[in-house]
Amino acid sequence: MSKKNYGKQDTQHHLHPFSDNAALKNEGVRVMTHAKGIYVYDDEGNKITDGMAGLWCVNIGYGRKELANVAKKQMETLPFYNTFFKTTHPAVIELTSKLMEITPEGFNHVFYTGSGSESVDTMMRMVRHYWSSIGKPEKKVIIGRWNGYHGSTIGGTSLGGMKSMHEQGGLPIANVVHIEQPWYYGLAQNDESVEAFGIRAANWLEDKIKEIGADKIAAFVGEPIQGAGGVIIPPKTYWPRIQELCRQYDILLVADEVICGYGRTGHWFGHEAFGFQPDIFTTAKGLSSGYLPIGAVLVNDKVTDGLLAGGEFNHGFTYSGHPVSAAVAKANLDILDEEGVVKKVHDKTGPYMKQRWKETFSGFKYVDDVRSEGLMCGFTLVKDKNTRELFPNPGEMGLMCRDIFFKNNLIMRACGDHIVAAPPLIITKKEIDKMLATAAECLREFEIKVDALLAKNAVVEAE
Ligand SMILES: *Cc1c(COP(=O)(O)O)cnc(C)c1O
Repeated sequence: MSKKNYGKQDTQHHLHPFSDNAALKNEGVRVMTHAKGIYVYDDEGNKITDGMAGLWCVNIGYGRKELANVAKKQMETLPFYNTFFKTTHPAVIELTSKLMEITPEGFNHVFYTGSGSESVDTMMRMVRHYWSSIGKPEKKVIIGRWNGYHGSTIGGTSLGGMKSMHEQGGLPIANVVHIEQPWYYGLAQNDESVEAFGIRAANWLEDKIKEIGADKIAAFVGEPIQGAGGVIIPPKTYWPRIQELCRQYDILLVADEVICGYGRTGHWFGHEAFGFQPDIFTTAKGLSSGYLPIGAVLVNDKVTDGLLAGGEFNHGFTYSGHPVSAAVAKANLDILDEEGVVKKVHDKTGPYMKQRWKETFSGFKYVDDVRSEGLMCGFTLVKDKNTRELFPNPGEMGLMCRDIFFKNNLIMRACGDHIVAAPPLIITKKEIDKMLATAAECLREFEIKVDALLAKNAVVEAE
């Protein structure tokens, strides 16, 4: 096969996820060939700064030979065996033991999956099975949030709050409902403090509980920081109040840690950064730094006891505890731990990013709500900072901005009109400076473009 026009060849037969595949057929796609550290290289020889760690997952950065070696060795010894039928294997035993070391007190059990979506679906089945195991089968409703993201399976899509996803295929499924997200910038009332807004946003859960009845509700689920929704960082008052409500009304509290887990916030897990204790948390992505697919659902003692009382849980995946994925995940966690990567994000690069991110972007005319926590960063493109007026076609400006980054060999992502970054956790201060300098140049280009567009009133007319 000729490698000329590789990217166009690709799109003639490959249907891409979350893409307009008709448009891709004409445009073609970029062909990434190799990667090292925080950089990805394409087949035209461009060196691209990966400000997204792949898809929020390559926490230890690219090109770690240790992981390749572990995978090779595991494939040669035991490439596959299942964990269904009274069997196990050393790779998954060792991964479990490592997870028990790094997870907070009270978490002594794990269920393995192949991805974040599978972790979320597992959790949804698990919370319902838990309640029926302890004699409350009517507790079935699971509460998520608008603009939350929990994956792309039918369960995960339903629980997530992406309306554009619900529209395709008549979702959500039954017994999944949503409350509004804790987005201060967009939803606070006139001169409401951040703290007061956090409590008010959490109390939307109480409103929903009263509407449905606590005796019907199985769980509340949220990402500690909403990732794909645009790095929405809740006020510090939000999660403690959510926890209080869940305990008060006897509802399981679930954290979807698929992005926040494994160091992203400067803690092993995002709920530790926000001071709450979930009953269950779902993980994937950073568990293997994306080197191989694997997910894990961590379950606390209370829920485990209920599940154990319930007999067989009729659930599992062929690849639950896959030996090669497990071996690679274990090696990845060892690196994060032994090289002090999580601690470095907490003590050094996280705070440094916070300061530099603010300095870099706050001055731009169409940029507001500049925010970051650990190595999750975001800002919002707005038409008027004084009035907080957003652009009329949500996503249009975001995409335009993202395309400018991409053209300049910097990957940051647009979530609607939120621009976000989540670089590999091994990024250095120097690399942060360089990344932000490029981003600032791109923002200048963006500003000039928007000025011209607004002058022509083109944005308003497009609406
Ligand atoms: C990415 C993501 C998922 C889905 O993970 P997949 O591996 O893509 O299935 C679920 N929840 C959150 C919070 C995520 O960011």
